[in-house]
Amino acid sequence: MGEHPATDTIASIPKVELHLHLETSLRLRRLSQRRGRDAGPIEDAHLVADPALFSGYDRLRRLRYAGRAGRIPDVLYTPANIATITAELVAEAAAQSSRHVEIRVGGRRGFDLLGVRGMLEAMTEGAGSVRHLGVGHGVIITVVRERGPEEAEHLVTEAVACRDCGVVGIDLAGDEENYPPGLFTRALAKARSEGLGITVHAGEFAGPAGVWTAIYQLGASRIGHGIRAADDAALLDLLRERRVTLELCPTSNVRLGLIPSIAQHPIHRLIDAGVAVTISSDDPVLLSTSLTRELTIVASAHRLARETLVDLQANAARAAFLPQESRENLERLVRSGAKTLGLIS
Ligand SMILES: [Zn+2]
Repeated sequence: MGEHPATDTIASIPKVELHLHLETSLRLRRLSQRRGRDAGPIEDAHLVADPALFSGYDRLRRLRYAGRAGRIPDVLYTPANIATITAELVAEAAAQSSRHVEIRVGGRRGFDLLGVRGMLEAMTEGAGSVRHLGVGHGVIITVVRERGPEEAEHLVTEAVACRDCGVVGIDLAGDEENYPPGLFTRALAKARSEGLGITVHAGEFAGPAGVWTAIYQLGASRIGHGIRAADDAALLDLLRERRVTLELCPTSNVRLGLIPSIAQHPIHRLIDAGVAVTISSDDPVLLSTSLTRELTIVASAHRLARETLVDLQANAARAAFLPQESRENLERLVRSGAKTLGLIS
């Protein structure tokens, strides 16, 4: 075990982030506020219920609503604004030494107002405008469970048609408990057969069964969160044997009341079980966090060595939705960058 790394050391580690929601409405609100423009009526504070009064997925919904503080006017959904907020997200990633990010987008209003392709083209344009920062990117389309199987199939069809503007995968998110995976097998099988990567939010609000079905029924090669897998020894074996990668987002779990503290996050048990784990920030604007901050607090609470932190980035490189050769190049980039910095030998 190497010594416990300092924050500036952690900031300099070359990184790969796999679980990052664009959070379109929050970023649009922040953008319009910065420009001194009216972003629409702010909801009366007493009308917004305290998210802490709720738990699990319901708390996430309340947190999002409170964070939005009312509805963002449709006029803010312009291709130029979408390009700007995407460029900002990539620039934030670059400031943390990220070399590759996968950005998820699934907000219905953006897709409705601009069309799926219009939204994705604006994102591509935004990411392209900061290409000089050297951060690679891919786009994942989030399918929200409670919008049902038909919308899922529609979105997958659009995603397949938009591979030329950077779509690399499909994410299934939303209410794990009330919308079983069987509703989405057809949509995700189509995505898989078209060569898109599959990641599923599971083992977050519901138990390990959701992770089993995400792998067997939905063909997921990555699981969003999956923390409940730590309760199931046979599932840990499966994750390790199939090299299914977990996208852990520790602050998100604490803020949603799923675990009491970062110190009680099961990351250590998952690493010890040989599972490929990665760290991401999830919704950095909503949760006031960043990938560097996540790594710093986890390293501190779990006494992770700098070599382990580099391994987490290598795991993310290996699980990125990229062609195999690009994944290998990315992993080499992470390791050689860490070596140059003297973080690994
Ligand atoms: Zn997420």
